[in-house]
Amino acid sequence: MDFHSLTIHALKDLLAEKKVTPLQVTESIFSRIGAVEEKIGAFITIDKEGALRRAEEIGKKIDCDEIGPLSGVPLAIKDVICTKGMRTTGGSKILEPFIPPYSGTVIEKLEAAGAIIIGKLSMDEFAMGSANENCAYGVPKNPWNQEYICGGSSGGSAAAVSADESFASLGSDTGGSIRQPASHCGIVGLKPTYGRVSRFGLLAYASSLDQIGPLTKDIRDCALMLNIISGYDPKDSTSVNEPVPDYVDALQDGLQGMTLGIPKEYFGPGLDPEVEAAVRNSVTKLQEAGAKIKSVSLPHTEYGVAAYYIIAPAEASSNLARYDGVKYGMRDMGAESLMDMYKRTRSKGFGNEVKRRIIMGTYALSSGYYDAYYKKASQVRTLIVKDYQKVFTECDVLISPVTPTPAWKIGEKSHDPLSMYLSDALTIPANLAGIPGMSVPCGISSEGLPIGLQIQASHFQEEKLLRVGFNLEQRLDLVKTKPAL
Ligand code: GLN
Repeated sequence: MDFHSLTIHALKDLLAEKKVTPLQVTESIFSRIGAVEEKIGAFITIDKEGALRRAEEIGKKIDCDEIGPLSGVPLAIKDVICTKGMRTTGGSKILEPFIPPYSGTVIEKLEAAGAIIIGKLSMDEFAMGSANENCAYGVPKNPWNQEYICGGSSGGSAAAVSADESFASLGSDTGGSIRQPASHCGIVGLKPTYGRVSRFGLLAYASSLDQIGPLTKDIRDCALMLNIISGYDPKDSTSVNEPVPDYVDALQDGLQGMTLGIPKEYFGPGLDPEVEAAVRNSVTKLQEAGAKIKSVSLPHTEYGVAAYYIIAPAEASSNLARYDGVKYGMRDMGAESLMDMYKRTRSKGFGNEVKRRIIMGTYALSSGYYDAYYKKASQVRTLIVKDYQKVFTECDVLISPVTPTPAWKIGEKSHDPLSMYLSDALTIPANLAGIPGMSVPCGISSEGLPIGLQIQASHFQEEKLLRVGFNLEQRLDLVKTKPAL
């Protein structure tokens, strides 16, 4: 039997009832990878041998009734999170030979729950991009149509789950990189509250914005994954010591008593009519399910992209200074001096988009310009935070599109960074404010490409996202609609 197309919650039951072994499941996932990976290109590294070995070990534990919440579930991870003994490239040439001596906290948590890490997934270099075209190891293709991008920067993470090459994955989201590719590939993606999930072991892009979160086939799997990865971690000083509820429990509740805010700024010019129609149709379904609908306003939304493209590159220019050819990864061996070695290593090791961000960020932070750019952007950020504070006194969650358009063709925007940056306009504000956001499939365009709906809530209100998402998922019944591969 083919197990690869199952959700985690369906697979878990089969594993716990011993109707299938972890080895059979892992073999099934590798046969799927063998069949479709050449078309998709979701992986940078695959560890078949290690995965099969671990599957046998977990199988023995299950035989002794030692069963964790993910026992025997094969998972692949965005190549931005350190995995002990397994290469971690960040999608960059500069880390091509880097094998981390430790695992990120989220990896340790998944493994403690019994998961089998099968490999590392494609991404834009250092998570900079919206199309996964900035990867040093090739461009993954959208499982729904291989001429289209799968979104970025967690493009491989979305493609692998959508193509049934992994039961779920982890991504990172600095300005939309979990929600946007999830939307383009027709799956669920959740960016948790800043501080909800430990980032220890995540290659840093923009530290005041980065957050790790799950990409899954449905909402129940998303809740399951979030249960496992959430919580305080003394190794990450930005993780928050707030109790973690059982997110699966949140799925039981209906929408009675909930008010959904529809922010008018998210339905402005440039919004594809099919995206708008799919989102509005979903709003009607949610209303039928008992939710109240209210039109609301977040007046500073339009300044989000401008503020983000100062703050994120500024932080990146500082974070990426560590890749100097001395401490990690590759080193150019032809240099004649230390300075020359730095220059040659960084010139060869980084791609164009990363260089562009380092230059922008260094400029924005330089003396004389700091006040005009970084300080100003931080002030705008505060205004966006205040918009959200106010709006969440009027409603429980915000409903909007995730992206203004469905996926575009590979190459279509790669020579126009500005139009690429603007495609993040609806996801960036949540990162600037540190609030949680989720993407849920809500329709298919006339070209056959998935459309996503975004739900945002106030800090640590992930339960509300899941509750609304689950009710919508039940009413739309899109989970079984899969790409033909
Ligand atoms: N597309 C945005 C950027 O390039 C967001 C990326 C992300 O969330 N990692 O910065």
